[in-house]
Amino acid sequence: MGLLDADLRIKSIIDVPLEKLSELGIDSLIIDVDNTVTEWKGRNVEARAKEWFLSIKEKGFKACLVSNNNSGERIASIARQLGIPSIHRAGKPRRNAFIRALKILKSKPENTAVIGDQVFTDVFGGNRMGMFTVLVDPISSREFIGTKLMRLLEKLVLRDKKRSRSSNERN
Ligand SMILES: [Mg+2]
Repeated sequence: MGLLDADLRIKSIIDVPLEKLSELGIDSLIIDVDNTVTEWKGRNVEARAKEWFLSIKEKGFKACLVSNNNSGERIASIARQLGIPSIHRAGKPRRNAFIRALKILKSKPENTAVIGDQVFTDVFGGNRMGMFTVLVDPISSREFIGTKLMRLLEKLVLRDKKRSRSSNERN
């Protein structure tokens, strides 16, 4: 497997197979922020994701947010909402921030998974640290696909309305 290949690909952080990770000896999670936990540059964490963060703690997992974003205030505020530590301006895929996160988590690479939406920062960075890597679909493109689907449905509905209106007119 190459350094750009994630060990696991899933839709969203809430789909992380925690039991499987436990079986692999993993109890620490390094989690990306933008498009993994929030929308790009967002501050809002979906209720489902908040619940997930509560559930991982109950299951004995430690977690740390690690973001390349420069806004320390925003990243810290998200981390506060979730009750976990954070690192901003991380410079992933470089090793430095991963090493800092391991210190915060009091963990080792073999007991740690990196979860994120980007291959060249999260997956590549995690793999070269010897960590388990999990690639998620980016939140905003997920929404974008949703939006596109809604538009398509709208179109179909509007077309049907037009049709029924013109057939009513004819009748
Ligand atoms: Mg990201």
